[in-house]
Amino acid sequence: MHALRRVGGFSYAVGVRIDKILGGTQPVFSFEFFPPKTDAGRVGLMQTIDELRPLDPSFVSVTYGAMGTNRGQVIEITSEIRNQLKIEAMAHLTCVAHTRDELLAVLDELAGEGVENVLALRGDPPKGETFHAPEGGFAHASDLVGLIRERGGLCVGAAAYPEVHPDAPDAATDMHNLRIKADAGVDFLVTQLFFSNQDYFAFVPRARAAGIEVPIVPGIMPVTSLSQVQRLSEMCGAALPTDLVDKLRAAGPDEEAVIEIGVDHAFRQCRELLAEGAPGIHFYTLNRSTSTREVLSRLRAELDHAG
Ligand code: FAD
Repeated sequence: MHALRRVGGFSYAVGVRIDKILGGTQPVFSFEFFPPKTDAGRVGLMQTIDELRPLDPSFVSVTYGAMGTNRGQVIEITSEIRNQLKIEAMAHLTCVAHTRDELLAVLDELAGEGVENVLALRGDPPKGETFHAPEGGFAHASDLVGLIRERGGLCVGAAAYPEVHPDAPDAATDMHNLRIKADAGVDFLVTQLFFSNQDYFAFVPRARAAGIEVPIVPGIMPVTSLSQVQRLSEMCGAALPTDLVDKLRAAGPDEEAVIEIGVDHAFRQCRELLAEGAPGIHFYTLNRSTSTREVLSRLRAELDHAG
């Protein structure tokens, strides 16, 4: 086990691309939010992100709507985070419902706002349907990665699945496809959320053996509700450890107890991941940052103490 690295008391300036941040010696901590539907929600989101500042987030990412419908919002919010809050930002972008030219136009708009980081994704079809490339568009995230590389000037991340992507026939095929995506020019990977670190610890050496060399940032989500996490787990294929489910069941309707169980589990996951050499943590917040803030505060306190 590597020694914990000290992370307290330092911050990155906006304008340092994520590949450069990941190339440093400190763990990278990022938070993922989705664009709210209302103006009031947006004001609230900006306040929430602003409140993260004392925790020195390395960057904040903004998700792309399920059917590519909120493109304007993603561009505006990512720009606002970067240019007004002065926190490094990353826009997610999916291939769903967009032609190649439309995707290029989004990339140009983002670059025009100074946004330099993009997470290139395929996206999902409506529930129960199979993904088909839109006419004039792309079938796989690797195609979008290729487009971003061809355009130039942007840092590009992509998704990885320690528990195998739900559409993939098997782990070997999924890894083969991930290698294609990495070879298309990915600077870093962010994993789907998982609740058992063994999945990440088994996945990283397999990726390295497959020739994938870029940093693989684990994605972590503190549980805030049993029913919600069961739904999510079914949707994305992330297995729930029995002991976690048992604890959440025992807490029943006691919301505070459920939150503490979620924070404690995520904190232990993050602590072990960093100690074993993970390059950082990407927090899935579902726009509720209280738990993630608590997890990162505990991590910072512990890492500061260790340093
Ligand atoms: P791909 O890399 O294209 O992989 C999808 C499937 O196709 C896999 O089974 C893979 O094995 C297979 N495949 C890949 N390449 C090939 C190939 N060349 N030939 C044959 N098969 C291939 N969704 C959103 O709508 N908006 C978001 O903002 C968003 N953010 C996300 C952030 C993260 C960190 C993660 C992990 C997921 C996110 N998603 C988001 C969900 C994502 O869109 C879905 O998981 C989607 O099903 C797959 O996207 P992908 O980019 O991994 O696709």
